[in-house]
Amino acid sequence: MMPFEFLNEDDLLRDVSLIDRASILQQLGSSDFDGCLKDFTGAPLDLAEQLLPLARAFSMAPVSGFSVGAIAVGASKRLYLGANLEFIGVPLSASLHAEQSAVLNAWMHGEAALHHLVVSAAPCGHCRQFLWELPNADQLSIHFEGKRLDLSSLLPAAFGESRRKGASLMDSPECALEPVGPIRNDLEAIAVGAAKASYTPYTAAPEGVALQCINGTTFSGRTAESVAFNPTVSALVCALNQRNFSSSREDAISRCVHAKLVTSLSSQESFSKSLLSRMSHLSMETILMEAL
Ligand SMILES: [Zn+2]
Repeated sequence: MMPFEFLNEDDLLRDVSLIDRASILQQLGSSDFDGCLKDFTGAPLDLAEQLLPLARAFSMAPVSGFSVGAIAVGASKRLYLGANLEFIGVPLSASLHAEQSAVLNAWMHGEAALHHLVVSAAPCGHCRQFLWELPNADQLSIHFEGKRLDLSSLLPAAFGESRRKGASLMDSPECALEPVGPIRNDLEAIAVGAAKASYTPYTAAPEGVALQCINGTTFSGRTAESVAFNPTVSALVCALNQRNFSSSREDAISRCVHAKLVTSLSSQESFSKSLLSRMSHLSMETILMEAL
């Protein structure tokens, strides 16, 4: 029996060897499962392809009805699930694509680089541009529909320069900032910590979010910008992505703290309040920060 009620083991893990299936079921069954899979015997890339149906099953696509799964294979050989997320009642631009979901999941786990990205459908142009923020982006190997292509083939004449090592989405240093006033509780500390680790080279406006569910589980998220702006993912959507791979994925949100700079020229605050209002009656709390 699958730990997540909506998952059918015989259907979703049918291509996985029995020994790896046992390990994966054990990880999925843990109360602290967080979208990362490790400790298997098969080759990571083979397993990523076998596990695409599992990743796809986490999709929440109430607008399009089009479920997409992705799995990022990290330099550590760990696998990170990705699935598309759509939200009712807000602009389509709030949607998260499966490729972005898998990359953010890997980034939130501290993975420093990706070796492969396996997707259940061809990556759209928006995702190809988002992936341009990764370290060694031009060499990233992308697998879909039986094809294996480098990002440089999928995104010829890319917009924006490739990111320098140590200054890309997954390996940038922390932003130097601090809260304007005292931190009053753990959730505020999580939101500020997330903002410090956000990736905002184009606006210099770091932002972070901390969510708490009614069962007390907390999730953080941070902004991931794109040089082309529109593929940027907000801190709230990043946090909702982490929640989606947990056993709290359908639990009500009981608190949400958003950390932003006092001086931001660009902020996701109003968008995030609007998105949160579609899924809860909560008021989003804000903690203000200043750059050091
Ligand atoms: Zn896409």
